[in-house]
Amino acid sequence: MFREETIAATATAYGEGGIGIIRISGQRAKEILDCIFVPTKGKTIQSRKLTYGVIADRHSKEVIDEVLAVFMPAPYTYTREDVVEINCHGSVVALRKTLDLVLRSGAVLAEPGEFTKRAFLNGRIDLSQAEAVIDLVKAKTEKSFETAVNQLEGSVSSKVKDIRKELLDLLVKITVNIDYPDEDIEEITYSGMTDSIKQIGDVIEKLLSTAEAGRIIKDGLKVVICGRPNVGKSSLLNAMMKENRAIVTDIPGTTRDIIEETVNIRGIPVRIFDTAGIRNTDDKIEKLGIEKSKEAFNQADLIILILDGSEEPTASDLELLEFSAGRKAIVLINKTDIDKKIFEKQILEKLPECEIIDTAITEEIGIDKVEEKIEEFVYRGKVRQGESLLITNARHKSLLLRAGEALSDALDMAERKEALDFIEIDVRNAWELLGEITGETTSEDIINEIFAKFCLGK
Ligand code: GDP
Repeated sequence: MFREETIAATATAYGEGGIGIIRISGQRAKEILDCIFVPTKGKTIQSRKLTYGVIADRHSKEVIDEVLAVFMPAPYTYTREDVVEINCHGSVVALRKTLDLVLRSGAVLAEPGEFTKRAFLNGRIDLSQAEAVIDLVKAKTEKSFETAVNQLEGSVSSKVKDIRKELLDLLVKITVNIDYPDEDIEEITYSGMTDSIKQIGDVIEKLLSTAEAGRIIKDGLKVVICGRPNVGKSSLLNAMMKENRAIVTDIPGTTRDIIEETVNIRGIPVRIFDTAGIRNTDDKIEKLGIEKSKEAFNQADLIILILDGSEEPTASDLELLEFSAGRKAIVLINKTDIDKKIFEKQILEKLPECEIIDTAITEEIGIDKVEEKIEEFVYRGKVRQGESLLITNARHKSLLLRAGEALSDALDMAERKEALDFIEIDVRNAWELLGEITGETTSEDIINEIFAKFCLGK
């Protein structure tokens, strides 16, 4: 899994910018720097200190760029190996030429995620911490960033390690009782065993209860805004974006199909799909718009159905209400500044579980309430808003689920007082599954797959 070569890559995004960084890691990092970097007169490279100078090709004598370079000796570095970073000008040409020279001087191009993979393989971070690095780079809101930072600091790892420790204690007790039944050792009782398994199972269950909010914080909440033409869908999208990206007008046909925008609502990345589409009142076109809404429904975590409260509910409104049955929905009775001819009771008859809010979107009335309900929906009373430990990673969730299932099988057997050998298999299985989260028991293929998702230079 480990290659010995010194690796290099551009660590910053390609494009125009103030600076761009080339990163090198491995035994030959310093030697490569010495070969391509000429410090300004009177300066020498000192470890962990930025040195000013130029990158120059010794063969062609070409000066490539004016840079600041730093050498950081192992082990106190990102990869735990010798690391060099060269701060070039943020030009694609400077970066490409410098990297080229680094590679010609003895480094090999790093694979995506290889720096972080080395940090993992060299024991600086565990697998769940390494995974947090990708989340951190990709985070779109402060909340998702904060969750990733916590995971990087070891919030998931330490919880999982605690659970594994408990499982190991139990495993040891069971194994000793299997192997040395006649010795004078503390005998394990079935009731003691069921208590322990239950207790560990509860902790796993509690962690899993954060997974839905965690997924949303990381990947975004998919919200579909629907309703018949002219009820105020685009106005709501605009209000939420607090800028006029979707065009709102009384003239028919200004927006077509489904518009997608991502907005940050109270730290939650919300992906809003506006089915405004066709805003003609022509029956046929209205039907098409409603069909489109229905299509979008299937991909939504949450539906916001808007009704024009200044008019009696129409057949299309009722149809959309019926179609929303069984889904999580917020219904807005909009245009209440004009009149209110739709009542909660009429809506609840069709959609008993929904949230209803009176709004006048163009008057900015009720929008706060909509955002509050979205936030409530994400946390749903299960997770405290300030909760720092959220399971955001689908791989972790699936391993926790499988570990929970194994424990529940173990519990069944313990309750039926079955042979210890059988119980031991499931407890051990749960212990191993949880070890895959931190990377202690993860196969090489899975580790490679995880790092392949990284960006280059990370
Ligand atoms: P869409 O077809 O559902 O996207 O509807 P729009 O957002 O384009 O709104 C249609 C028209 O209704 C526009 O002229 C909006 O200004 C108007 N409108 C939207 N919400 C309200 C509201 O709460 N009160 C009033 N009086 N007009 C509104």
